[in-house]
Amino acid sequence: MLENLATTDALTGISNRRKMLELLELEMGEAARYGTPPSLVFFNIDRFKTINDSLGHEAGDLVLKELALLVRGTIRQTDIFGRFGGEEFLILARHDELKPAYDLAEKVRMAIEQHDFAIDETVTCSFGVTLFRADDTPQSFIGRADEAMYEAKRSGRNRVAARL
Ligand code: GH3
Ligand code: MG
Repeated sequence: MLENLATTDALTGISNRRKMLELLELEMGEAARYGTPPSLVFFNIDRFKTINDSLGHEAGDLVLKELALLVRGTIRQTDIFGRFGGEEFLILARHDELKPAYDLAEKVRMAIEQHDFAIDETVTCSFGVTLFRADDTPQSFIGRADEAMYEAKRSGRNRVAARL
């Protein structure tokens, strides 16, 4: 029970930041040993502050829960999914090329855009995608996905940007 508390995000029930960092390091270790590099999708809800401000923090919490369920049901069981911060999420998958990783992010982006959320407003997210490099640290790996995500924000939101 304690292990579960320490690794699960209380609001959404998915892995929390601590667990995601642990899993990321495990995947990086496997990549070094077996050559199965992880890909990383980092996404952030667009204009989430506006949702909180106009509908209240509880409505915002509902969106987070609903979004986590939706994404979990959209990606593969073997993909690792967690909440990395307030309105930031990570997906770790295994792709050795950018294209399938990009396609995964695009699939999730469309599922969110098309989902009819309980708040009756369209919810969208901006996505950053990158592939593991042999010289990556967890920080450099996540940092690159984060930079790509900000590029998606800058170029208009509700889109996917990739960075090698
Ligand atoms: P952007 O499109 O640039 O990402 O805009 P944004 O409004 O989403 O970004 P900003 O960083 O300004 O605001 C993020 C908001 O997310 C502010 C914060 O209150 C909200 N938030 C973070 N964690 C939670 C949470 O657990 N519950 C709720 N309801 N809101 C949260
Ligand atoms: Mg946001």
